Amino acid sequence: VLTATTSTSRANIKVVVRVRPSNTKESGDNHRVVVKVVDENVLIFDPKENAEPFFYHGVQQKTRDLLRKTQKDLQFTFHRVFDVHVQNAEVFDHSTKPLINSLMDGINCSVFAYGATGAGKTYTMLGNPSNPGITFLTMEQLFHTKEELSADRDFQLGITYLEVYNEIVQDLLNPGSTLTLREDSKFGVVVAGIKYVEIKSANELYTLLEQGNKNRTQHPTDANSESSRSHAVFQVYLKMKFKVTGEIRMAKLSMIDLAGSERGSATGFQGARFVEGANINKSLLALGNCINSLADSQRHVPYRDSKLTRLLKDSLGGNCQTVMIANVSPSSLSYEDTYNTLRYATRAK
Ligand code: ADP
Ligand code: MG
Repeated sequence: VLTATTSTSRANIKVVVRVRPSNTKESGDNHRVVVKVVDENVLIFDPKENAEPFFYHGVQQKTRDLLRKTQKDLQFTFHRVFDVHVQNAEVFDHSTKPLINSLMDGINCSVFAYGATGAGKTYTMLGNPSNPGITFLTMEQLFHTKEELSADRDFQLGITYLEVYNEIVQDLLNPGSTLTLREDSKFGVVVAGIKYVEIKSANELYTLLEQGNKNRTQHPTDANSESSRSHAVFQVYLKMKFKVTGEIRMAKLSMIDLAGSERGSATGFQGARFVEGANINKSLLALGNCINSLADSQRHVPYRDSKLTRLLKDSLGGNCQTVMIANVSPSSLSYEDTYNTLRYATRAK
């Protein structure tokens, strides 16, 4: 059984940013594009009203470097930046695909989609039938890897799907039941009474995800205030038994479509400097504080501050692998949310 170790080494957090395409609301005269992707690692946030337009594609490296220098404050660097034309499959390749090997090694992994409502979190995680999101693509790859390794080990693979809404944990695969969290010395974090479904193929999964999403507090693709306050937590439990040695290895993958970050953005998630308020999402704030503590290699990580962080205690920090996908709109209409998301993402690195 793998639980978070007390290792003090820097957290294994990879931060990527995805810029979604402009939508029809963002095409009028009162809008301009304020996020420009420079290359696979760098983007420039340009909120200025009358800034000279600049375009990097085809620009010489020397000129790029100069532009980068003059725009220094507004330049952000991440492990990967995905421009507007990038498809879910490519996001998958550079975000969760590398986690599969870690899972096979028995390492717990977690993936978060962070960003304001409408920034593209659900599109990235869930996608749609013609353009499946990274949850589906990851599971497909996981089944593929399982086949490849099946000569060596037997696999047992099951999933759970829950929602944290107003600090209440609800089972999305068994609607109407409220769940409690327990810490177990043998199994780590345990969600008592949750419906656990064993699955044999990625296609079975799509049906389950669809079912689960129907049970969310509001439909996940609605950009309304209710749905934006819930965190959808999809978890995969892997148990591997090696045929020759009999060794048992467990790992857990958590994929989370987070609540919209817009309400908390006023406080900027800067360390402990946050204001408690009825409208501030407790779990989202606590997650920010835990990730900041881990990124700074602090010894105390405040997992106990919220339901979401308690739930993910054995999947964050230690030798766990975490991927944060920060989603932003390219439009000046959302520039404050975008700026806050970019700062949050920078802080998590
Ligand atoms: P969130 O879950 O962050 O609130 P959504 O994923 O629901 O945001 O995205 C808002 C809208 O933008 C949806 O209509 C979605 O289909 C669209 N959208 C988001 N990201 C992309 C993308 N990369 N390409 C095309 N459309 C996108
Ligand atoms: Mg959503």
